[in-house]
Amino acid sequence: MWEQKNIKKILLTEEQIKERSKELGKQITEDYKDKEKSPLLVALLRGSVPFLAELIKHIDLDLQYDFMDVKSYAGTESTGDIRILKDLDTSVKGMDIILVEDIVDTGRTIHTVCRTLLHKGAASVKIVTLLDKPSRREADVKPDYIGFEVENEFVVGYGLDFDQHYRTLPYVGVLKDECYQ
Ligand code: 5GP
Repeated sequence: MWEQKNIKKILLTEEQIKERSKELGKQITEDYKDKEKSPLLVALLRGSVPFLAELIKHIDLDLQYDFMDVKSYAGTESTGDIRILKDLDTSVKGMDIILVEDIVDTGRTIHTVCRTLLHKGAASVKIVTLLDKPSRREADVKPDYIGFEVENEFVVGYGLDFDQHYRTLPYVGVLKDECYQ
């Protein structure tokens, strides 16, 4: 495969990700099956797309999903201010939201998005993330559904990019050091 010369190690295979997504889907189904309305999945572009596509196969509910694209303001990282590049088309008023993320790192992005959605009238906001890097956390967030915990290293694949590349890899891996030079 084209990328193999650049990959130092594979952390999570496609099979592991599929298996874990199935478990998370079942858990979400169980948690929401008795609610009056199904939750709205809100996926953050672009990294969460492959995970969303796998996860929804395993949630046995009449689901809807929508997308948001947000970016941190340059220079104000510590405040968690975000710029909304693409907002939701769906109204969140009274909705139970499940935010879908590729990775929660410092947690600032997801924390700010949660606050924004609650401010817009969402009834509840939970977080499902494929990967969690708790050692880097700065904001007060704890994802409700976590695929895998990862160490403090930069990962690519399964939606996660380095300079917009490697998102399409069917696994999560780490690049060789020379790729960053
Ligand atoms: P946070 O606000 O939690 O620090 O940032 C989360 C975002 O940072 C993720 O959605 C992702 O775009 C990016 N990010 C954080 N850690 C990694 C990583 O290890 N690899 C990649 N490719 N992106 C990351």
